[in-house]
Amino acid sequence: MTIPARSPYVIVGAGIHGLSTAWHLAKELRSRGLGSGEDVLVLEKSEPGAGASGIACGVVRNNYFQPAMSELMQACVEVWESDPEAFHYNPVGYVALGAARQEDDLTETYERQERIGYRSELILGEREVDAHMRALFPDWRAKGVTVCLHEHQGGFAFNRDSVLGLLGKAEAEGVRVLTGVEVRGFEPGSDDSIQAVVTSEGRIEVGEQVVVAPGPWARRFWTMLELPQTIDVRTPSGDVVRDRPMWTYWNLQEGEIVVDPTMFATADGGPPPVIHLDTDAPLHTDDGRLLTDELWGIYFKRDRHGVQGGASPLVVDGDVELDPYPQTTDVDPTFPDMWCAALSHAMSRFEGCRPLYKTARSGGVGAFTADNFPVFDYVRPNVYGIFDSNHGYKMIGVGREVARVLVGEHSSLLHPFRFERFETGDLHPVSSSPYPWS
Ligand SMILES: Cc1cc2nc3c(=O)[nH]c(=O)nc-3n(C[C@H](O)[C@H](O)[C@H](O)COP(=O)(O)OP(=O)(O)OC[C@H]3O[C@@H](n4cnc5c(N)ncnc54)[C@H](O)[C@@H]3O)c2cc1C
Repeated sequence: MTIPARSPYVIVGAGIHGLSTAWHLAKELRSRGLGSGEDVLVLEKSEPGAGASGIACGVVRNNYFQPAMSELMQACVEVWESDPEAFHYNPVGYVALGAARQEDDLTETYERQERIGYRSELILGEREVDAHMRALFPDWRAKGVTVCLHEHQGGFAFNRDSVLGLLGKAEAEGVRVLTGVEVRGFEPGSDDSIQAVVTSEGRIEVGEQVVVAPGPWARRFWTMLELPQTIDVRTPSGDVVRDRPMWTYWNLQEGEIVVDPTMFATADGGPPPVIHLDTDAPLHTDDGRLLTDELWGIYFKRDRHGVQGGASPLVVDGDVELDPYPQTTDVDPTFPDMWCAALSHAMSRFEGCRPLYKTARSGGVGAFTADNFPVFDYVRPNVYGIFDSNHGYKMIGVGREVARVLVGEHSSLLHPFRFERFETGDLHPVSSSPYPWS
């Protein structure tokens, strides 16, 4: 393969972030008279969507307790809504249901959504939530749910199709995407900046800037860029926690049942919103075996060939194997029992669904930062890092913001995600959710 000897902009990774950045950067360069998509080269070691973006459940929601996450997600939903067809985006909405301990968090999230103009409604009280859910699904029967945040924006998109949609948009702007080209290192210049990218096919000189959007390969790029493996974290109270690992890997547990997808419809026959249910009601299998009487949670959505979703992730102990991705999907062996019992707990239409669970590779690993929130920042004078801490399929708008930064603008939406926050203590507030991504 012949690769160019030089490119003004080199973007590593053809997932949701690399391709969104490439597309938006091409548009920025063109509209400002600074160049065009021909100045942008994307390097992908495998193929577009080969990483986490190609296996994501595809849920697009705004339900984040952290103000900065919520505001950024609103901007992302704007991009999803700009071309639902190309992105294979299903704007069906999203419903978060929680137990009493989550009421305050969801209420605060709802109030912020009202302020920023994100369309949602909040329902409080067990009876009221039950009535709301039964109007949607007459067989709704989940217990212990006292709060419901129903987002009327968001929904889900089909993972690989949306990546291909982005690829089409980037290529239509003249961006070149080279597949089968692995980045193996960076050649430093006289200052701290990078003067060339070293690949499996040779060296590419960098004219202007590099963007790395490596998804689960975050730690590998962090190492290549000689960034610290452990960091000190200043907490908002001023205490400093020393030597926190910068990267932790979690196994995302997901699965599906093979059913006629239209069996999961709303009362009027319409497409159902994505459901996220957390409750502390005891969870039993359909034949009465107690699985847990502690807080548990699942999410699920209608898919093309059934109903798909997941549950809380598990920390990966020790080293993680990434290639071929997804390599490590050794989910908890009790996951299918738990997830199917939880579906049945939610709606009687799912009673007896356990034999319909599809035994296939599902889920995968994600890389999480020291505080489980993204780092979007320059990590060298001319290298911008998009390390989304596994929040990011829904974050299709991050590329739009990064493109603006690359051409010299400030992004107030990305500012809260700068690396420096670990040193200054400007961390994001933590919610009562059992998930590392809420
Ligand atoms: C099972 C699972 C379910 C998820 N569900 C959701 C969800 O419902 N909603 C949501 O918002 N998020 C979800 N996520 C998180 C989301 O998928 C990721 O945060 C997001 O896709 C990361 O996008 P990315 O572009 O940074 O990385 P990726 O999509 O992983 O892309 C990185 C690319 O870089 C390439 N690459 C790696 N190393 C090199 C190299 N050396 N040289 C060249 N190329 C290289 C890879 O091949 C890959 O294509 C989920 C994640 C997992 C694992």
